[in-house]
Amino acid sequence: MSTLALFGGVPIRQKPFAQWPVFDDTERQAVLDVLESGAWGGYSPTVSSFEQTFANHHGSRFGISASNGTVTLEMALLAAGIHPGDEVIVPPITFIATATAVLRVGAVPVFVDIEPATCNIDPRRLSDAITPATRAIIPVHFGGHPADMDAILEIARKRGLIVIEDAAHAHGAHWKDRPVGSFGQFGSFSFQQSKNMTAGEGGILLTNDEGLAAKARAVSNQGRRQGGAWYEHVTLGTNYRLTGWQAAILLAQLARLPEQMKKRARNAAILSEALTRGGVLVPPVTDSRVTAHGLYLYVLRLNTSELADVSVEHFTKALSAEGIPGAATYPYPIYTNKVFESFAHRRMECPEAERFCRECFWISHEILLAEEEDLVDFVRAVEKIRDSVSTLPSLRLKI
Ligand SMILES: *Cc1c(COP(=O)(O)O)cnc(C)c1O
Repeated sequence: MSTLALFGGVPIRQKPFAQWPVFDDTERQAVLDVLESGAWGGYSPTVSSFEQTFANHHGSRFGISASNGTVTLEMALLAAGIHPGDEVIVPPITFIATATAVLRVGAVPVFVDIEPATCNIDPRRLSDAITPATRAIIPVHFGGHPADMDAILEIARKRGLIVIEDAAHAHGAHWKDRPVGSFGQFGSFSFQQSKNMTAGEGGILLTNDEGLAAKARAVSNQGRRQGGAWYEHVTLGTNYRLTGWQAAILLAQLARLPEQMKKRARNAAILSEALTRGGVLVPPVTDSRVTAHGLYLYVLRLNTSELADVSVEHFTKALSAEGIPGAATYPYPIYTNKVFESFAHRRMECPEAERFCRECFWISHEILLAEEEDLVDFVRAVEKIRDSVSTLPSLRLKI
């Protein structure tokens, strides 16, 4: 049995995986074009062209771009008329912004547990969380796997709730052949460096409702109204505008997305098959109603019956040492973060979210852009760790 790289052995892999972000002369030329056009800011025609192209690609009529995918959530909440004291349901397994955007508008996040198979908010647990103060639900399409939009929309319709999809992980993902981001009143996307489409930073809000689109635009553009004069400020807004540079890069990134999605799907299938045979990791399952998975994260669960004493922390540290980058998890559900000590919030029982943090981790999407022969290293690293499991509990003494 070979020594784990963590304990000084030779790592399985010494070369890097695919680079991220991906770019070539297309992005280079696009940025030069903006440079020479002189239209660098938020009023650049490249910005409106990107907004329309992205919205069309995601089955939506309107796209309102912004500086990032956190403020797009705030724009959605403000445009939807969420007021201080209103309750907004969010999942506990997500990036912090899903819940802090709610706090930023003075509303109260209410955490509802996930379903273990998809790591998305569990629609069966929504009813218990709804009170007369509940105004909205923010489902997250976690890792790019669409949330159960059938069940969520059904409950939202019955209870008169607004749905804001946090699609920061789910560019190009489809639920029953329809793009995510087009189901709720709003769909919010991020173009931050790590996301499946990036300009370093950036975000966009999609909607099919013209009135909501105008309100969201007003938030991001100093309370101006469409067609109004430059100095006419009707509502309280701010400046969240995306720049021409970012829009130019994003048009090029969007053009790459379909091909990259195919490659990620192919590689995810290969990995899942190999890992199922390996027995120590449970590969992700995809709901049969998902017709395109965003695959931002490839989420794995430790098979605890095989790895009794091994924690996610042990496993991911060992994996990184073997030269497999990007293995990570949330060490605790977001409601455990200190920020929530200072703000009103509620949480339902979340045993599955707690279990997720103990048993699950993800590999980020760059690995799924590797060549097929590179994936073998990932599987070999997992097998090497499996064969050394008895030595891993001693990690506790070393880290
Ligand atoms: C990335 C992300 C956001 C937005 O992040 P920004 O970095 O502000 O663009 C929102 N929600 C989730 C789930 C995310 O992963």
